Amino acid sequence: MRTSSSSSWRARNLTLPSFHCPDEAGPPATIARAESVLISVSTYKLTSQSSDKLVLTLPQKWSEEAHLEMMDKCNIQKAILSVSSPGTHLQKNEDASAVELTRYCNDCAANMKRTSPDRFGFWASLPLPDVEASLKEISRASDELNPDGFALLTNHHGIYLGQPEFDPVFAELNRRHATVFIHPTMPCHSHGGSAAPMTQYPAPMFEFFFDTARCLLNLLLSGTVARCPNITFIIPHCGGAAPPLLRRCASLGPMLNIPTVDKNVTYDWVRERLNSQFYFDSAGFSFPEQIHGLMQHISAERMLYGSDFPFTPTPAVAALAKAHDEHVPGIFGEEGQRALYAENAKRLLEKKTI
Ligand SMILES: [Zn+2]
Repeated sequence: MRTSSSSSWRARNLTLPSFHCPDEAGPPATIARAESVLISVSTYKLTSQSSDKLVLTLPQKWSEEAHLEMMDKCNIQKAILSVSSPGTHLQKNEDASAVELTRYCNDCAANMKRTSPDRFGFWASLPLPDVEASLKEISRASDELNPDGFALLTNHHGIYLGQPEFDPVFAELNRRHATVFIHPTMPCHSHGGSAAPMTQYPAPMFEFFFDTARCLLNLLLSGTVARCPNITFIIPHCGGAAPPLLRRCASLGPMLNIPTVDKNVTYDWVRERLNSQFYFDSAGFSFPEQIHGLMQHISAERMLYGSDFPFTPTPAVAALAKAHDEHVPGIFGEEGQRALYAENAKRLLEKKTI
């Protein structure tokens, strides 16, 4: 079992770039697992500045020590930090404080990576929807902070990724061959007004999954993915609610001659892109059911592990890791298990941004 592994087993894996432990029973070593976390400093600022934007109370206080403790308990060698929902641009039109908070979070994460490069990497945040400031932060972070990629939200104050407003940002990320991790957030209900999320339920329960589908489908249908072949996208939670809609949307878009839909989109093209330009993570209740919808479209080489710590507290991360261990071998086989737990993440993290 991963949780009963000896410390020497973990220590050996910290130094050896090997995925095999022939003298140890149990699953393959977890070399690197992608995950998202709300950095503690931003948690403080978020709760004090913008409690109305928080969609879920943090069930476990975040600290670097708590994160490392969780990683050791669940046999996670390396974690990629990022700021999850609601991001670093908290109040609409308050661009200056968003720039300040973004830089602060990125500097903190960069410092953690600098001091513990074997345990932490990070996706840098951007102060979207401020496009000009985001272009500047892409440049500053890339030149000075050595991020592993960038973290965006499905929508930024109601503007979805894939909308023309964000084209300059995607063009720059494409020019830099960036990896882009996209975490869902509250669907925006101040635009249009015909429907609103059901706020009696915490948004991560299901609204996040619908927002993931909106964002991913818009990135594909708008031509953003086609225009940005150098970007590697990471979509968490097994793609949210998108998997059963992929064929429908890829087929209906061109069939209905919708002017904003890229004319080259077909389901075969979508499938080819998902298997060459995308990774998906397994954060949340992916097993035993949800994983099967996504695996209709992609191969095991596109899967990463995700913890969602600290929104998912340590005991729940451990329980979900146990569910992985129970179901992954049967669904993916031994080779696929090594790919999901370690090799895919390692391959992705070795990809350099310009
Ligand atoms: Zn998440």
